[in-house]
Order: sequence, then structure tokens, then C-alpha cells
Amino acid sequence: MQRDQELTEKIKNYCQKIGIDVIGFADPALFERYSEENRPQAYIEDSKTVIVIGFYLYDIVLDAWSHYEGENIWKRQFADAVVEQFCNRVRRFLLKNGFNSRVIPYSPGLFLKETAALAGVGPIGKNNLLITDEFGSQVRLRALATNAPLICGEPITKSKYCNECNICIDSCPSKALSAGKYIKEKCLEYLKNNRRKLSEHVFIDCNVCIESCPVGKK
Ligand code: SF4
Ligand code: SF4
Repeated sequence: MQRDQELTEKIKNYCQKIGIDVIGFADPALFERYSEENRPQAYIEDSKTVIVIGFYLYDIVLDAWSHYEGENIWKRQFADAVVEQFCNRVRRFLLKNGFNSRVIPYSPGLFLKETAALAGVGPIGKNNLLITDEFGSQVRLRALATNAPLICGEPITKSKYCNECNICIDSCPSKALSAGKYIKEKCLEYLKNNRRKLSEHVFIDCNVCIESCPVGKK
């Protein structure tokens, strides 16, 4: 397949112009290791590229959840709302350029940090999160599948940042990272019991593993 350098630059420039902080392109052929529902082809049959975009969480309040359990239960993450708007703008831009795309839902969706690593955006660190040069792990991600043939990044499989560093492991209050891998149950149990309330329906979860990482700190 011939991939289009000019179109890739055009999309990158557009993303920068509208304020997207992180952008990467991954080859759908690299998703074969995942189950079918977690592959881009489940969303656009003739997928040629996965576009992953990231929004820099420059203020902790952007990581807040709004949660209401009344007659109608709803849950909303503020940064997700922002990043979804960015994706919709990229989708419209692709359409104007003659290409189909779909904003991938969170569930079942793609594994977003793995997608970013496959796109060459950055590695997954000992904190079990994507690490970017500029923003560390302080990014919220979302992806689109498209039939636009864009130039893809080189997958990154090892973190050049972590080496002897163990700051996130030592800082995690639930010891969810201590076994050399992420223990989800420990983390979720801690999150459930340690929400920081900002108002009646708005809270912030623990994000020590994001904040403690020194990479990208200005
Ligand atoms: S805090 Fe250190 S070990 Fe943890 S992700 Fe960041 S660089 Fe890697
Ligand atoms: S969110 Fe908190 S409890 Fe969970 S892994 Fe990160 S630092 Fe540990």
C-alpha cells in the first residue's frame, strides 16, 4: 500500500492548528495480537491507519469526573469531552479530504496507551501509562480509525525513561505497581475508597502515578 506523506503532513498541521497536543499514526496490521473487537477493523473495515490524539492535562481539574446517581445515572469525564470534540473535528477534516473515519468508542474500543506506543508516540512506563517526552503521562487519549493511508510511526516497546527510576512504584499508595506489573484490583479498591470530592457530584481519582513521574515536568 502506498502511504501518503503529503496528506499525513496536512493532518498533522491541522491537528496542531486546532490545539491537539499529541498525535500519532499506527498501522492497523499491528493489532492482530488483540481480540477482534479491539482491532481498528472492527470500526472501519478498510482501516489503513489508526490516528491517536492526546490532550495535555495541564490542570488536575481536567481529570475530574462528574457522576450522578439519581433517576438517570450519568457519568462524564471532563478531559474526555474535550478530546472527543477534537476527534470529531479531525473526522470532519478527513471527510473533507475524501476519507472515511470513525471515532473509536471507549468500550470495547482499542487499548489506547498501547495504540500510542504502536504509533511511536512514547513507551509505556513502570507506571503502566503512556509516557510522552513533552507531557509525561499527563495526557488523555482517544483514537480514530480511518481509511486514509497515512505514514505510521515506529512502535516503541521499551521505556528509555524508567531504567533505575522507581518513583511511581514507591509513590503508589495502594502498592498496585510493586509487583513489577499493574495490579488492577488493588488500584481500583484504592480508587473506590479515596475519591477527592470537589463538589456534590464531581470528584477526582488518585492520579499519583501520573503526577509523580518526573518526565515532561516543566
Ligand atoms: S516515575 Fe520513573 S519509573 Fe515511573 S514511569 Fe516515570 S520514569 Fe518510569
Ligand atoms: S491510580 Fe493511584 S492507586 Fe492506582 S496505580 Fe496509580 S498511584 Fe496507584
